[in-house]
Amino acid sequence: MKIAVVGTGYVGLVTGTCFAETGNTVTCVDVDKVKVDKLSAGEITIYEPGLEKLFLRNQKEGRLKFTQSLSDAIKDSEIIFLALPTPPGEDGAADLKYILGVAHELGKLIKPTDYKVIIDKSTVPVGTAERVRLAILKSGLEVIPSNGGEDLAGAFDVVSNPEFLREGVAVDDFMKPDRVVIGTTSERAIKIMNDLYAPFVRQGNPVIFMDENSAELTKYAANAFLAVKISFMNEIAQMCERLGADVDMVRKGIGSDERIGKRFLFPGIGYGGSCFPKDVQALAKSADDVNYDFKILDAVMEVNDKQKTHLIPKIKKYFDGNLKGKHFALWGLAFKPNTDDVREAPAFYIIDALLAEAATVTVFDPEAMANTKNIFGDKIVYATNQYEALKNADALIIATEWNEFRTPNFEKIISELHNKAIFDGRNLFDPAQMEKSGFHYESVGRKTITQHKNQS
Ligand code: NAD
Repeated sequence: MKIAVVGTGYVGLVTGTCFAETGNTVTCVDVDKVKVDKLSAGEITIYEPGLEKLFLRNQKEGRLKFTQSLSDAIKDSEIIFLALPTPPGEDGAADLKYILGVAHELGKLIKPTDYKVIIDKSTVPVGTAERVRLAILKSGLEVIPSNGGEDLAGAFDVVSNPEFLREGVAVDDFMKPDRVVIGTTSERAIKIMNDLYAPFVRQGNPVIFMDENSAELTKYAANAFLAVKISFMNEIAQMCERLGADVDMVRKGIGSDERIGKRFLFPGIGYGGSCFPKDVQALAKSADDVNYDFKILDAVMEVNDKQKTHLIPKIKKYFDGNLKGKHFALWGLAFKPNTDDVREAPAFYIIDALLAEAATVTVFDPEAMANTKNIFGDKIVYATNQYEALKNADALIIATEWNEFRTPNFEKIISELHNKAIFDGRNLFDPAQMEKSGFHYESVGRKTITQHKNQS
């Protein structure tokens, strides 16, 4: 099949590459010239485990191409994916300007004799498929004389196909999805979507067909539910700290109940990334728009906002309420491990809070240094490895649970840090072990190991 993917970011590049991997011919379009030039030259633009190998192979075999021209990309493609940004607008609702802008362009390019399936992969509010359909029809009318007097009704279908991939394991998630959700009632589109996804669901995972509105809401419901789990566990962690319980034990105790499940029960310094914060906010705004008071979502957002700086009062207390002139090493910048994505990264809230207290910070992340430099510039210092970041630091802060931080060389940490103090936002280490090693160690929802700091 011939496929166009409009928008070549995290979702678009993974989508395009994985469809090429199953034998389709894919053209990815992006307005970002630098991105298109790099990708065309064989240079991958995001860090995503396993993606580069597939990207290079499919590009070499001529099944994966990149262009800035929407018209070239869709000319021969029956299938057009929209993987465009849907950032929050000022009121918190998903801003549809990218999606509707491309829909408008498509209306001018599609011919009445075509049949194209336009598939929305972006996360969009209920009603967007219909808005895209109307936008295409409307701009189609603007070119009706050159279309032989015909409108575009019948020349396309709009399908909602929300994406559930997780950054860090995106290739696996795309190649072997738990489920594929497809919102359309068009028989013609159903057949095409079934054929397209058949190679990905050979193990029997379901392709669930439904109407467009339900598919659009399914994506928000999924992300909001996961955010609820995270904020709930963060509140349980707060209770543990106050009541002298251990959140790790509570997590294991409840996670073994099949109705609850083991995943997404780890407390920490809040959820971040390009999806959960904006999607929870957008669902809350959708609720508002239909006069529904979605109480749980408001609480989830409030808990998460507080959790992002959960470590700051602990750090301040350790330093007798004054961080001025203190220097911190910070490990982990990406919003989660195995990605270079720093959008809404909790680490950034910690850095902002430390800078606001007139402290200084040296950071290290295995993949997210370049993206961080684009945001903080020379306000912070960038180390070339995790141990270099420790030099002259008064304490270590951990903000992302990269595997390479899990069993560090503690001797080296001790020799570099001014105080043997670690503030761990991801619960990487065993408090008992930290006590034995003489660290002051504070994590989330677990016992604080108290050691005196050096006088300075
Ligand atoms: P992204 O910002 O990484 O990529 C979007 C791309 O679209 C950018 O490269 C941008 O240059 C391009 N673009 C903007 N306007 C364009 C236009 N007119 N024509 C062509 N290209 C254009 O975004 P993303 O993370 O890939 O997310 C895309 C959508 O998928 C969002 O709605 C997001 O919520 C959703 N989603 C994201 C993830 C994720 O993990 N990142 C997972 C599931 C769903």
